[in-house]
Amino acid sequence: MAETKYIFVTGGVSSSLGKGIIAASLAKLLQARGFKTTIQKLDPYINVDPGTLNPYEHGECYVTEDGAETDLDLGHYERFLNVNTSQANNVTTGRIYQSVIEKERRGEFLGKTVQVVPHITNEIKERIQLLGRNGEYDMVITEIGGTVGDIESLPYIEAVRQLKWELGDENALVIHLTLVPYLAAAKELKTKPTQHSIKTLMESGIKADILVCRTEHELSDDIRRKLAIFCNVRQEAVIQSIDASTIYDVPNLMLDEGLDTVVLKKLSLPNTSVPDLERWNKFLHRHKNPKYTVNIGLIGKYVELQDSYKSILESFIHAGAENEVRVNVESIHSEFINETTIRNKISHLDGVLVAPGFGERGIEGKIDAVRYARENNIPFLGICLGMQMAVIEFARNVLKLKNANSTEMDSRTTHPVIDIMEEQKSITHMGGSMRLGSWKCELTEDSLVKSIYNTNTIKERHRHRYEYNNKYKSEMEQAGMKSSGINPETGLVEIIELEDHPWFVGVQYHPEYKSTVATPHPLFIAFIAAAVVYSKEKNSANVAHKQ
Ligand code: GLN
Repeated sequence: MAETKYIFVTGGVSSSLGKGIIAASLAKLLQARGFKTTIQKLDPYINVDPGTLNPYEHGECYVTEDGAETDLDLGHYERFLNVNTSQANNVTTGRIYQSVIEKERRGEFLGKTVQVVPHITNEIKERIQLLGRNGEYDMVITEIGGTVGDIESLPYIEAVRQLKWELGDENALVIHLTLVPYLAAAKELKTKPTQHSIKTLMESGIKADILVCRTEHELSDDIRRKLAIFCNVRQEAVIQSIDASTIYDVPNLMLDEGLDTVVLKKLSLPNTSVPDLERWNKFLHRHKNPKYTVNIGLIGKYVELQDSYKSILESFIHAGAENEVRVNVESIHSEFINETTIRNKISHLDGVLVAPGFGERGIEGKIDAVRYARENNIPFLGICLGMQMAVIEFARNVLKLKNANSTEMDSRTTHPVIDIMEEQKSITHMGGSMRLGSWKCELTEDSLVKSIYNTNTIKERHRHRYEYNNKYKSEMEQAGMKSSGINPETGLVEIIELEDHPWFVGVQYHPEYKSTVATPHPLFIAFIAAAVVYSKEKNSANVAHKQ
């Protein structure tokens, strides 16, 4: 294909309509037709990246191979497309301004007054086109965060307007996602909010080419016609996006609505291929027809907000489908776990996952949960802080190192089994300064993880400051906590596992960032498989007991 095509996705009426899922679903359909496709998210907030944000703000911070701390929508993009994203795929207003201000300080604007138009808008346009420039992609889908009409979205909307004009109708199009609410009292779907949203977009000089309407009820032909005429789009370009039971249904729903067909037509591309969704639909079938159910406890402290652990929850869906089981995730707040509540909260579970996190709040509950899983042979997976908690628990209760801790929680602990890295000690600024992105790890012979990954060296993504303290390594190993994954460059322990336990693994990295529909993560697959074995054994023991 000669030129890269640009598709912009804007949102109106309300936030949280699922722009990311619509963008990812369209990308999936285009990819399934053979187009090389990538997705980009532009976020209108002033943080340079979401790395410094509390998970309660925007949910999980997703990490890419190149170590960018990004919006969680990039996780959806990778899970849907099975293609890596990078720093270039997520740009915030903070990053745009930072770069413009740095250019100004270097004198690159030659004495001109630096302004939102053209300097900020040019920088936005540059960031959008950067992805399309090296010929790697046929299609670049750019999702504009926020809602049309927001003050902070204005420079982005203006950049899109200019780009659409510069690139021409055959090379760029705008999809506007809105909400068509249902008024129960009137028993009617209402189009007015969408009309107003389109009007706001028009005031900025942009005519939407395609309208995607989130709705709880089917859009009738009458409603579609009304939306088309008042919003200035062809009727075939009014696409219904009805609530789905799983986000993984959305590509097929968009296919049925003809979203990809309308896109190809608008971009003057031949509609010759048929989307190949075989692998995708096989996954969906398995996901929807489980043969067994396991209960997994997700022990964390941001459990009130499901988005905080998005990638972990999605990894369970992928691994569940692979095992043909339903993974029922029970979110358990670690602050409410203590010696009296632990049995009640954990004993019925078939697997325990102790989640990543930062700071002191809720960590004693996590340590209690590790202990319960270790002593009762319940399959256990500890991720990042979860792995660190497993090390602390082992040091305290097996090695009897009273007060063993991480220096993150107790800087004066007598037994810093988890400690800050030397090079981290001098760091004073918070943004982008952790151990981030993809690192190599060598797996130890005869370890459980080696049999799971079935290879010698793996690469996994990190996001942390503190590390396993090698001073305690031989003591830990002798007592049965094996270091089964080592960073070949630094000698840092990346994986621990227990000898006398059927399935107990702690990983310093985040496997959840690499699980996709096409390649579910081996650790999650094995963890769920172990939970199935544990659950079946528990059930048959119960039956035997009753007989
Ligand atoms: N707070 C821990 C550290 O910085 C763990 C981080 C995490 O779980 N992502 O090392």
